[in-house]
Amino acid sequence: MRRPRSALVVGGGLAGIAAALALCDRGLRVVLLEAKRRLGGRATSFTDAVTGETLDNCQHVALGCCSEYLQFCRRLGVLDCFEWYDEQYWVLPGGHESVLKPGVLPAPLHYTGSFLGCGFLGTASKLAIGRAMGAIAFADLEQWREVTFGQVLRDLDQTEESRRRFWDPIVVSACNLDPDEVAATLAGKVFKDGFLAGADAARIGIPRVPLVRLYDAAMAELEHAGGEVRLGVSAQEMGADWVVTSRGERLQADIVVCALPMERARALVSAPELQGIAEATHSPIVGVHMHFDAPVIDRPHAVLLDVGTQWVFRKDEAGAKVHCVISGAKDWVDQTEPEILERVRADLATCFPHSRQARLVWGKVVKEKRATFAATPAFEAARPRAGVLSNGVVLAGDFTDTGWPATMEGAVRSGVMASESVSLVASGNI
Ligand SMILES: Cc1cc2nc3c(=O)[nH]c(=O)nc-3n(C[C@H](O)[C@H](O)[C@H](O)COP(=O)(O)OP(=O)(O)OC[C@H]3O[C@@H](n4cnc5c(N)ncnc54)[C@H](O)[C@@H]3O)c2cc1C
Repeated sequence: MRRPRSALVVGGGLAGIAAALALCDRGLRVVLLEAKRRLGGRATSFTDAVTGETLDNCQHVALGCCSEYLQFCRRLGVLDCFEWYDEQYWVLPGGHESVLKPGVLPAPLHYTGSFLGCGFLGTASKLAIGRAMGAIAFADLEQWREVTFGQVLRDLDQTEESRRRFWDPIVVSACNLDPDEVAATLAGKVFKDGFLAGADAARIGIPRVPLVRLYDAAMAELEHAGGEVRLGVSAQEMGADWVVTSRGERLQADIVVCALPMERARALVSAPELQGIAEATHSPIVGVHMHFDAPVIDRPHAVLLDVGTQWVFRKDEAGAKVHCVISGAKDWVDQTEPEILERVRADLATCFPHSRQARLVWGKVVKEKRATFAATPAFEAARPRAGVLSNGVVLAGDFTDTGWPATMEGAVRSGVMASESVSLVASGNI
């Protein structure tokens, strides 16, 4: 490959934006094509027709260990749009709350103090989790390539209570799949690089603004870097140096980066590297926006235990507007909006008994059936690498083999990896 001078990036999610910015930085003339009218892909917002509010399709959360993503936000000038929390609030039915937070001990022991004091686990579970955390902290995750995290937890003799109240809530939220299905390498990474790596790595970052306000900034940043963004233009076909658009144009460039969601990439790119994920499936997430006439929570966020609703986020000062999230939501997506609202309402009443007096005045359910890939061991084994494929198309996207679950971090990393592979090929180093 001669040194490329121009690039077409197809897909304006985080992977595409990151790839486009990195290629601009390398001096290429970049045109980014996005089918929708805004950038951000799955990490986006919409305007609700009833309230007129800008709402996220679902709450997105970052961790302190998401280094590439945070660097990306710094570049877009939106890093100060996040609120950071050291504490995690875990709430049992009846309202009993435990707070997990780092203490004085060094990593990986920094949670020990608050963990020993937490009220939602018995002594046997705490000891079992402590042993398992020790094993994970020092494990080479590659040894778990072929097994599920559930299998690892069984091998580590975890109690039923520790599964239900500790491992399952964290793994399902982070990997969007049940531990009995999810690749142990991915779930293990969440604990090793997040929980155990240090207090900063485990910090929870929640945007204070709708997601669209974070990624709209990418438009100006790309143009400032010399790129061009074309919204409302989708690729119909593509090859190593051409794209046919929905407007019937045939665009030409030295390289084409495919930064589409997995199912679209499979449909538009015929390369053997994608055959391994031809049958890969998705895992859904349900996000529930609710307005009450009185406060229901006083914490900024909380993990709910022993009920179906997993996380609740406070969306106003008073705590009367909340957003609830159900990951790995296979059992929820076929229910109607009123059924889901009723179910979540009941879970909130169970965990925050004082909220029973509050009346639900408005609710909106967002079902994302294709929220993320189902990160099974088979999927992990077949995950294509971000970079130049054998047919010459350059691949990016959260589903590429970044070592991360389907996250904003994985998406940004894939875009950066894709751009780096272009220079390596051009310089003859691979
Ligand atoms: C409900 C939900 C909750 C989530 N929660 C979190 C979270 O808390 N933390 C976290 O880190 N991650 C979370 N994620 C995952 C995160 O949103 C994704 O991993 C990430 O945004 C994927 O980025 P991407 O660029 O790889 O793909 P996408 O965002 O899917 O981007 C692909 C883009 O391609 C465009 N496109 C499609 N077809 C065409 C075409 N033919 N031509 C041109 N453009 C096209 C699409 O419109 C889209 O903009 C969540 C995802 C969902 C759905």
